[in-house]
Amino acid sequence: MIFSEKHELIRKLARDFAEKELTSDILDDIEETGEYPPELLAKMGKAGFFGVKTPKEYGGQGSDYLSYAIVLEELGRVSAVTDIWVSAPNSLGGGPLMLAGTEEQLQKYLRPIATGEKIMAFALTEPGAGSDAGGTATTAVKDGDYYVLNGRKTFITTAPVADWSIVYAKTDLTQRGSRGISAFIVDMKLPGVSCGKAEHKMGIIGCPTSDIILEDVKIHKSDLLGEENRGFQNAMKTLDIGRIGVAAMSVGVAQGALDEAIKYAKERKQFGRRIADFQAISFMIADMATKLQAAKELVYRAAQLKEAGSAEAGTAASMAKYYATEACNEIAGKAVQIHGGYGYIKEYKVERIYRDCRVFTIFEGTSQIQQMVIAGNILK
Ligand SMILES: Cc1cc2nc3c(=O)[nH]c(=O)nc-3n(C[C@H](O)[C@H](O)[C@H](O)COP(=O)(O)OP(=O)(O)OC[C@H]3O[C@@H](n4cnc5c(N)ncnc54)[C@H](O)[C@@H]3O)c2cc1C
Repeated sequence: MIFSEKHELIRKLARDFAEKELTSDILDDIEETGEYPPELLAKMGKAGFFGVKTPKEYGGQGSDYLSYAIVLEELGRVSAVTDIWVSAPNSLGGGPLMLAGTEEQLQKYLRPIATGEKIMAFALTEPGAGSDAGGTATTAVKDGDYYVLNGRKTFITTAPVADWSIVYAKTDLTQRGSRGISAFIVDMKLPGVSCGKAEHKMGIIGCPTSDIILEDVKIHKSDLLGEENRGFQNAMKTLDIGRIGVAAMSVGVAQGALDEAIKYAKERKQFGRRIADFQAISFMIADMATKLQAAKELVYRAAQLKEAGSAEAGTAASMAKYYATEACNEIAGKAVQIHGGYGYIKEYKVERIYRDCRVFTIFEGTSQIQQMVIAGNILK
């Protein structure tokens, strides 16, 4: 794809930021401590990364989906966990608000998350409702001007540090499956809200994930997001955006893996030659580069179709997520292979990349769920 001058400029801004700010020392420190430096988050907020697509009147940059994909691609090339921090307010945190928020809600909640002053989590998954998110067991019972929420959400990105969370809960128990679910904005400091322990994850260390437990939490009706009983539609539309984001971070992370593999293959000598001169290695790199390019084209296409409001946008987002996340895992695996034993050692970047990208085929809809969406749309 040939990019416009505007998109090339956005790429340059994000690349310069990644190369200057996301230094190896900082990234090693994040791995070691599990903490993402608050001053780095502040710089990302200042750079406008938390509100790439958010309209300017709500504190964002008012850019398009392609710009968002490019930002994730360039930051992810250097640091996957940085992408998680950037995607949270742009998609899962800000997405539900942009889809259904009232003017008052947008001013109160969207603006501070787009600037990075506040953090909004997205709580859909439950212990018994993962891929089958419509099986939500969390309940919200109306009581005068309030709803009383009870339930447990699981694997919620940023939950332990979030100011608020979008929570999906069943408001109409007479309706079956995904019907009768509503979306709420929950203040994480309200009585009855608590978090489980931060999970010890394989990768994306430096962005905490935990359960959210809701025990008789009273939510004022002004914090109902969108129409009552229409929350599941809000969640699914949000995930359409999220899938473009995960696909974009996958191509960035895969580019980082490929860069490292090429560099190492040119440096490392065995049998008196650069390993890049062995056909087995050079063909592996050819496959990695080709699959990465194919993945990029799917991501850019999905972003453009979404921008245009195309009816094909949902399928395109699932195709991009499915292909790019699987390709990223394959490319990261091959990058480790090209590094031989050194690829298994933490000093080498590919070790972290390999662990970081493993979750991409799992969260925001597994690869199997993407296959179901794609097949369902094709075969209907
Ligand atoms: C690090 C991390 C961060 C996350 N962040 C968030 C977050 O911020 N908010 C949030 O709400 N959730 C979040 N999640 C949850 C994530 O979206 C779910 O883990 C994911 O949707 C899968 O659900 P599950 O883990 O219950 O797996 P399951 O749904 O139990 O799936 C297990 C396996 O069965 C397969 N499977 C399930 N159903 C079918 C089917 N019908 N056909 C074929 N195969 C099927 C799946 O593909 C998978 O391989 C996060 C998860 C992780 C690991």
